[in-house]
Amino acid sequence: MSGGRRTRYGGLDLFRVAAALLVVANHTGPLLSFNGTANYLITDILARLAVPFFFAVSGFFLVPKLTEQGRSALWPFMRKCLLLYGVSTLLYLPLMARNGYFGQPGLALNLLRDLVLNGTFYHLWYFPAAVLGSCIVAALLRAGKGTAALPVCAVLYVLGLLGDSYYGLTAALPPLKAVYEALFLGFDYTRNGLFFAPLFLLLGGLLARRPEPARPGRCAARFSAALALLIAEGLLVRGFSLARHDSMYLLLPLCVWLLVQWLRALKVKPLPALRTLSTVVYVVHPLCIVGVRGVGKALGLLAESGFLLGNSLVHYLAVVAASCLTALPFLFWRRRRPKPPAPPPDPQTAPRAWAEIDMAALKHNISALRQHLPRDCRLMAVVKANAYGHDDGLVCRACEAQGVDAFAVATADEGVRLRLEGVRGDILVLGWTDPAQAPLLSRHDLIQTVVSADYACRLDAANVPLRVHLKLDTGMHRLGIPWDDADHIAGLYACQHLRIEGLFTHLAAAETLDGADEARTEEQIRRFYRGAEELQRRGLPTGKLHIQSSYGMLNYPGLPCDYARVGIALYGLLSSPGDRTRLTPDLRPVLSLRARVAELRDIAAGDTAGYDGAFTARRPSRVAVVSIGYGDGYPRALSGGRGVVLVRGQHAPVAGLICMDQMLVDVTDIPGVAEGDTVTLIGRDGSNEITAGQLARAADTITNELLCRLGPRVERIAV
Ligand SMILES: *Cc1c(COP(=O)(O)O)cnc(C)c1O
Repeated sequence: MSGGRRTRYGGLDLFRVAAALLVVANHTGPLLSFNGTANYLITDILARLAVPFFFAVSGFFLVPKLTEQGRSALWPFMRKCLLLYGVSTLLYLPLMARNGYFGQPGLALNLLRDLVLNGTFYHLWYFPAAVLGSCIVAALLRAGKGTAALPVCAVLYVLGLLGDSYYGLTAALPPLKAVYEALFLGFDYTRNGLFFAPLFLLLGGLLARRPEPARPGRCAARFSAALALLIAEGLLVRGFSLARHDSMYLLLPLCVWLLVQWLRALKVKPLPALRTLSTVVYVVHPLCIVGVRGVGKALGLLAESGFLLGNSLVHYLAVVAASCLTALPFLFWRRRRPKPPAPPPDPQTAPRAWAEIDMAALKHNISALRQHLPRDCRLMAVVKANAYGHDDGLVCRACEAQGVDAFAVATADEGVRLRLEGVRGDILVLGWTDPAQAPLLSRHDLIQTVVSADYACRLDAANVPLRVHLKLDTGMHRLGIPWDDADHIAGLYACQHLRIEGLFTHLAAAETLDGADEARTEEQIRRFYRGAEELQRRGLPTGKLHIQSSYGMLNYPGLPCDYARVGIALYGLLSSPGDRTRLTPDLRPVLSLRARVAELRDIAAGDTAGYDGAFTARRPSRVAVVSIGYGDGYPRALSGGRGVVLVRGQHAPVAGLICMDQMLVDVTDIPGVAEGDTVTLIGRDGSNEITAGQLARAADTITNELLCRLGPRVERIAV
């Protein structure tokens, strides 16, 4: 049930930025004024990894969709490339005009060649190459069920090599040279969408089919070895002066393959901002080069040898800085845009119903709550009932990473399981445990709540050393020793095997602030401290004191306690969404619940669907079968439109009776719903959100119940 099953591609995002910086290096020559060979190493060998890497990453995401969905998967990718190409071309029009592009003879033909193969401006060749290359790969995958694709792409690449880094060999054979010279009438270089892009796009697709490698160290070693060979190859190509243009090497495919595997093995979480950054830097850096030159000349009064232009490293850094600055507004814009619709889950690993646990939100809630605790009061994370359905192991690990060192569970079994998962902090069992299980409690170093004086004696009789907290009943009348029974309580200190480490009580009506409840709560609090003082007066140590649960802390802040036992608020929620509390920390919901469209059905007007025909179509309707039911904890009380889900970011009401394992939703008004679509039952999709509170209210319960009933069939995934 733990997280991490979902693949993490953040490593790829990280290297995208490195690749963009390498491209900038390629166009500026950062070490030029220091050492020619070192500069060549960077700009003509290492930097050559960048563009094939971009292609491979595109293929990594695109090719699996092509094989599954066919050509239709191509359009979104092409649209994006063409949009970027169009915008970038507009951006460079003034420069093209300044360079005299539009005055050249044969403009129409040249423009066509440049648009399709060479790119309208030097570095923009990437976009048409991505479009053409992906069309070629899609066609190959369709034609030969994929078997012919790799050999064909490899042959194209070798043909490309013979027109690029290995042109020296080609030139030695006059007939071959003539063929290439004819080819070069059609395009400037062979590193284009025909010869260069297809192989890397396809390799990316093949990589996506391979399991994520486990050992980053080993992957890094393999990549380094391949890189060393690539450098050797690059130096040979230079030594023999073979290259016409040195962007394609024999070892590039191997290097890119091992690089991507290494980055996958790092298992970094996705960093979408870096994608934006790398794209913007890639597109704008030539403009920045022009800008930096302009500024440099103005500052150096037209001298090319000044500090900025004469020092190649400073020049490079200035261009990088200018490019990154240009990217800043885009990064802000990206943050402010509503989040894109929930991504379709990876088809190979997607479960039928899953809960995404937002670790950043959890971390945020911990610090938001801590800000409101008195200085000596610590957070005790209440993780009973599988952390209110959030996966207790996952939640405890996240809490421990934030320095939380006390946890509360309901049962001894829950505590034992957390110990076995490696939780080291204090674990308090809030509920009753059979005294026969005292050895288990002791062995796993769990702290047991003493729920009555009699219970304490039976625990003591088990003859094992036990850590306990005493629970006082101050008015809730559930568990606990009556608060004013001081003699009995004091008597418990005589139990030989019990180490009394704390004293606590639970508030019965802390969630409302109306007069009677407030009076009752304040009376409970008064009684608790009176009970504690009486023990202290008798010289008996009371250990850690604690009273407040979430509402106790939000409505009665600042009580002098050692712990606040916070449950529901930790998960970013109130039990009932409308509750008014004195403190209103900024809490963020941690859990999103999602399932998938398993099937779509068109139903004629007047026909019915589901058990008992409980849904009647008033008009020709389309219903989606969703892969979650009350057996997973989605309440059956939400049947018949009381529950609403999000599909493609839009609301769809539950249709008819919810079944144990699935349910129907009415998607008549949502265009384009497809099998496999993600259905959001709790959480955000696009600009719409369904909160656990809304669902709980519709099902006539509280968020605590709704969440803790999410069953073990719902896979928990840390995001
Ligand atoms: C469940 C529980 C809590 C946590 O309650 P929330 O309202 O979820 O914060 C605290 N103390 C005790 C004794 C509990 O049983």
